Amino acid sequence: MTMTGYVPKFATFAIAAFVHTAAFAALMDGSYVASAPGVWGSPVETTVVVKQGKIADISFKHNETEGVGSRALDVIARSVVKTQSLAVDAVSGATASSKAALMALSVALQKAGYQASNGVKNTVQTAFGDASTDVVVVGGGPGGMMAAIELSRAGKDVILLEKLGVLGGNGTFTSTYIQAGGTVVQAKHKSTDTTVEGFAKYLSGYPDTDPVMAQTVAPESKVVVDFLVENGADLDRIFKPFAHAPSDGRAPGLEITKTFTKALEKEKVDVRLNARATRILMKDGRAVGVEVTPLSGKPYKVTAKAVILATGGFSASKEMLKQFAPEAAVLGTTNSAGTQGDGHRLAQEVGAKLTDMGKIVLNPSTYNANGTQISFTALRFTSGGIMVNQSGNRFIDDTSNDKTGVTQAMIKATGGTGKAFLIFDQSSVSKLAIIKDYVQKGYVLHDKSLENLAKRLGIDPKGLANTIAKYKTYAESGNDPEFGRKTFGCKFDTLPYYGVKIEPAVHATLGGIAINTKAQALDQNGVPIKGLYAVGQVTDSNLGRHNVNVFVPPSFARIAVREILKETK
Ligand SMILES: Cc1cc2nc3c(=O)[nH]c(=O)nc-3n(C[C@H](O)[C@H](O)[C@H](O)COP(=O)(O)OP(=O)(O)OC[C@H]3O[C@@H](n4cnc5c(N)ncnc54)[C@H](O)[C@@H]3O)c2cc1C
Repeated sequence: MTMTGYVPKFATFAIAAFVHTAAFAALMDGSYVASAPGVWGSPVETTVVVKQGKIADISFKHNETEGVGSRALDVIARSVVKTQSLAVDAVSGATASSKAALMALSVALQKAGYQASNGVKNTVQTAFGDASTDVVVVGGGPGGMMAAIELSRAGKDVILLEKLGVLGGNGTFTSTYIQAGGTVVQAKHKSTDTTVEGFAKYLSGYPDTDPVMAQTVAPESKVVVDFLVENGADLDRIFKPFAHAPSDGRAPGLEITKTFTKALEKEKVDVRLNARATRILMKDGRAVGVEVTPLSGKPYKVTAKAVILATGGFSASKEMLKQFAPEAAVLGTTNSAGTQGDGHRLAQEVGAKLTDMGKIVLNPSTYNANGTQISFTALRFTSGGIMVNQSGNRFIDDTSNDKTGVTQAMIKATGGTGKAFLIFDQSSVSKLAIIKDYVQKGYVLHDKSLENLAKRLGIDPKGLANTIAKYKTYAESGNDPEFGRKTFGCKFDTLPYYGVKIEPAVHATLGGIAINTKAQALDQNGVPIKGLYAVGQVTDSNLGRHNVNVFVPPSFARIAVREILKETK
């Protein structure tokens, strides 16, 4: 696979500004190829073109994770060309891919005559000094990016802080859809049952959902999806429930991050990567900024009229999982390394109330790729497949959206291990670009013989053959008398067969900072903390299971910005 990752220009500038350049002595002109092992063990191969003694171009072929590793390689390529130096920082959140890239580059450049003991020098990051702005936004996921864009469009000064080396947060991993009702896309496809009101009603129909919150968020989500589409996102494939995704079967995550990133660039927002907020500054009971601890360099302060926390959940914090949902602390997670619950802690320190902290969502269908949990939800929800245990038996409606219910059934059916299998065929792969990518990365086994596939995965071949024979009759009649499955995207009519080992992982944390319909953070008595707003997964937005969905953070970001504009008029 060649590199297609997108890199925000300012990310390159930020990294370039952080490094001490150490120019190479004249290199020999030519094209040099070298490789180093990447995250998945497959090579990251670089081609370096040297012209007139200078590095003119760097490209990579790789199998790193799209949108994370791939973007790190792009950042590093641009940075090395710009600075003519290997003394660039690894991109945090994608350290292993960065190291592989730098190692391969070092070898390639040595072929061009570069003398270096290890090829990579330690770098010192230039710290920013104290700063003052209208609003400081903490967290560069969908919520934080939307907030910063809206503030800038309203003429406000804004600083967006992101603790990792890339923007996007969990948003980049969004695998299946972004929801909304009444969007331009639905209108284009003449989808008459998808209105703002219909979406609010749909949301309100779920347990633990505050209907007022549902009505508050529904109109905003329409504006968010329209904004993304008007700014170039391909979200042209619509399907139930109120879902939008790219027309060619790709996951929507990268499309969303790319579009927000471009808009930030257009607005020339002051985006600071590798910049972690470590304290909320308070004065007379009001949030007036944050203390920032950069990856390297000294902490500094950003003072502001308002603070928006958009730091995501705490799925990647073992410590917080142990405290609030101990049974999940033993599991891996599909989430970004940034989901450490920073915002929860910062808000709690200044008196904010945290609610529903023990509620989490598990994703039953994840593959463990060397400790990184890769979600196969998109396949379950759209192009089908069946889940089986070691005996080859199904145990639930394989397409069910009730992730926790599926996980419980899976644990029961596997004697408590939770280790099961997702089996599908070529037709499922052909429909989804994301699954093609996973096949290429080697997460999935395939075989023309079902028996061989079963043996290779460790499933009872006879059991699996019987199950598939039965399932085919259900798919033909459109009726699954065993588990009530309604859709049969995969009919097992196109070879080869595919299979992947799956296990549950932490998908999302539902609890967080209590907020009201204005996205204001509330104290223990339910009173808004002046100047402090919170949006997205860091909050408990009272939308039940939809708290975790990607339409929520940018929708509440719009609400928070509206309130801030009123308050700071
Ligand atoms: C594998 C996967 C698949 C998903 N698929 C879907 C889907 O199909 N449909 C759907 O609706 N939703 C999906 N989601 C959920 C969706 O991705 C999230 O709802 C969304 O990304 C949350 O956005 P956010 O802005 O609140 O937080 P995040 O996206 O988590 O962003 C928070 C950001 O804040 C940064 N940060 C944290 N602490 C600090 C600090 N102290 N200082 C500075 N920065 C900080 C983090 O590094 C991160 O970049 C999926 C999630 C995952 C993990």
